[in-house]
Amino acid sequence: MNKKTIPFSDELIRDIAAKYGTPFHIYDEKGILDNVKRLQKAFSWNPNFHEYFAVKATPNPWIMKSLKTLNVGSDCSSMAELVLSETVGIRGEEIVFSSNDTPDEEFIKANELGAIINLDDVSNLDDLDRLHIVPEKICFRYNPGPELARGNAIIGKPEEAKYGMTKEQLMTCVDWAKKKGISYIGIHTMVISAELELPGLLGTIAMMFDLANEIRNEKGVTVSFIDFGGGIGIPYRPEQNPVDIEGLGEGARKLFEEKMKGFDHTRICFECGRAITGPYGFLVTKAIHYKHIYRDYIGVDACMADLMRPGMYGAYHHVTVLGKADAPKDHVYDVVGSLCENCDKFAIQRPLPEIKTGDLIVIHDTGAHGHSMGYNYNGRLRHQEILVHENGSVQQIRRNETLFDLFATLDFPNLKENTAKVTKE
Ligand SMILES: *Cc1c(COP(=O)(O)O)cnc(C)c1O
Repeated sequence: MNKKTIPFSDELIRDIAAKYGTPFHIYDEKGILDNVKRLQKAFSWNPNFHEYFAVKATPNPWIMKSLKTLNVGSDCSSMAELVLSETVGIRGEEIVFSSNDTPDEEFIKANELGAIINLDDVSNLDDLDRLHIVPEKICFRYNPGPELARGNAIIGKPEEAKYGMTKEQLMTCVDWAKKKGISYIGIHTMVISAELELPGLLGTIAMMFDLANEIRNEKGVTVSFIDFGGGIGIPYRPEQNPVDIEGLGEGARKLFEEKMKGFDHTRICFECGRAITGPYGFLVTKAIHYKHIYRDYIGVDACMADLMRPGMYGAYHHVTVLGKADAPKDHVYDVVGSLCENCDKFAIQRPLPEIKTGDLIVIHDTGAHGHSMGYNYNGRLRHQEILVHENGSVQQIRRNETLFDLFATLDFPNLKENTAKVTKE
């Protein structure tokens, strides 16, 4: 059983709450970097191994800059993510641009940055032709469809997913790239999500190695780049075990030796988001109300604006009441935010120690798809992010949103003046 711990002292969290106010997302830089090093070590048998951080997980340039110190690149899927990458000095083959339903200007920008452009569909060839773009480095996203349900690795239903293209279409793309004289051709897939078990993860790797061989046999092309996507899961629940990263690396090594003779220069990579930052981020929020009706409710000062996953997917996030980690869990609460949506609950019927108004509540595993997924429904504002650096120093890496930010796109008489009556810019 994986004990859910917090890498910061209670005192540090209280100090930060006193200085910056609640709620806040807090990230552990040392945890993030140690984790990346572990992944890189597990794949160090291959000198071309690379991790591209899926920026959408935690799109903060301070985090990206920190990851860059370990040669972690960017997996981008929007203009915003491309601009963030450019700004922290990540460009060229350090960016994979993996988007779908892509606006023209994003292809143009990705091409300007020299990114590896990962096409989602065969129709994107027409887009590139129309835009007169011949990328230096191109990649094609594979969707295996029902074919994936082979071996033991039955993972989701790719045929219901909107991403990627069929093998036949992918071969058409390879022909196109050859005709254009593009010498750097890659393949990509992303068929799993939040997977904790090795068979699913290794199944993807085996599938991609097989595809690389098929392309070589049919088209005479040795791919320069194989991207297994993201999808490595994290144990959100205390009874789940983390992915055996060393076992994954070792399993991949065996598959490579078995299947990949003559692919010595091929870059193999992951573009993980969740597994890189997820467990090293926490949402700290304060209990501000207690309500007793048919159930006991604890109202906190964060809401779905800060963390959507429980409301959106019914996802479990572990909850620790600060200073009461070892107290008996003899109360049952729904821990809720303030949105006028009944799904705005961080925990439902959760056994917890008695919570008093003013208690700090730590919601675990919010380092990926936490702040980034938040939204402004009900006019709720998204909150600050705090990074605790490897050397222990504390930095606010994003301030709180203000009502002025929220209303910035509205031009209406007296709105600014009335906003100023209730808040400061
Ligand atoms: C979301 C996404 C990822 C990252 O997924 P994780 O589950 O966070 O590892 C990687 N690649 C693509 C194309 C994605 O859409």
